Amino acid sequence: MSFDEIRGQERAIKILRQTMANNHLAQAYLFHGPDGVGKKKTAIAFAKALNCHTHSEDACGHCLSCRKISEGIHPDVTLLQQEKGEIKIGAIRDIINGMIYRPLEARKRVVIIDEADKCNLSASNAFLKTLEEPPVETVIILVSSNPDLLPQTVLSRCRRVSFRNIPVRIITEILVEKNGLAPSAAENAAYLADGSIGKAIALASTDVQQVRGDILEGLAGKEGAPGILFDLAERYSKDEGLFYDALYWFSTYFRDILILKSGGELALIINKDLHASLSEIGDKISVEGLLDILSFIQSIYKGQERNMNRQLALDVLGNKIMEAVA
Ligand SMILES: [Zn+2]
Repeated sequence: MSFDEIRGQERAIKILRQTMANNHLAQAYLFHGPDGVGKKKTAIAFAKALNCHTHSEDACGHCLSCRKISEGIHPDVTLLQQEKGEIKIGAIRDIINGMIYRPLEARKRVVIIDEADKCNLSASNAFLKTLEEPPVETVIILVSSNPDLLPQTVLSRCRRVSFRNIPVRIITEILVEKNGLAPSAAENAAYLADGSIGKAIALASTDVQQVRGDILEGLAGKEGAPGILFDLAERYSKDEGLFYDALYWFSTYFRDILILKSGGELALIINKDLHASLSEIGDKISVEGLLDILSFIQSIYKGQERNMNRQLALDVLGNKIMEAVA
């Protein structure tokens, strides 16, 4: 992956190219922005560009340095990732100890800390010392979608580079070109993904489409509806991930129905591909009922229904839906 191959982050990449061209490299960077928009990919491309044997300000992808970085075997380029939700002090210490020496092969040693906000307190403190007295020929890149969780003392020592949501048009193109999706499916996943390629790819998966389909069937079903809804409750309460996936889709469906019912524009709805079915469901359901359902879903998200287990929460939701449907 070189800068040229990263889509939708032209602004961030322009800044990085300029710092290389002007020889104004910072010793530490913070790449921040939403999940799944290419921050880590850009950090790796930056490491390559800083060390490429043939190109300046970008990576050729073919020289020994570029290939070693691609394969994760370059001795001077380290990518640190969280383990079990945490970056521990041991991992940070290993990196700091390695920084005593000059780089073995690279012009610039590059240390990328992905999800840097997952550093525990002692790891952050150890790391802060390194940022205060940065080693020679080293560029540190912190990658984070939650930079507010990083200590201010760490943030103040990093040059910030912000990454933005990727436009629907570009996500659609990527899903068609790289993931082989049909254009209509790609466009729909792109709309749902809220600017994140990572999310779009996950949304296009068959599992997620299955959840969406099941729920819609439960809502649209005529005589079988109560049965299907309680069936879903049983299935989706067993697994926390599935439970929140299901809850998410329920909430987008009811939000969309509310918009359609109040004459809102089609452009505002999330599930554009299903607008005909959602309109039909909307005809059978009252605005009051919709608001009640949406506020119940909100309260589950906010953890206000702690006395309910997942199965009970979905059963109550099913009951509310049955009551709301005339
Ligand atoms: Zn190269």
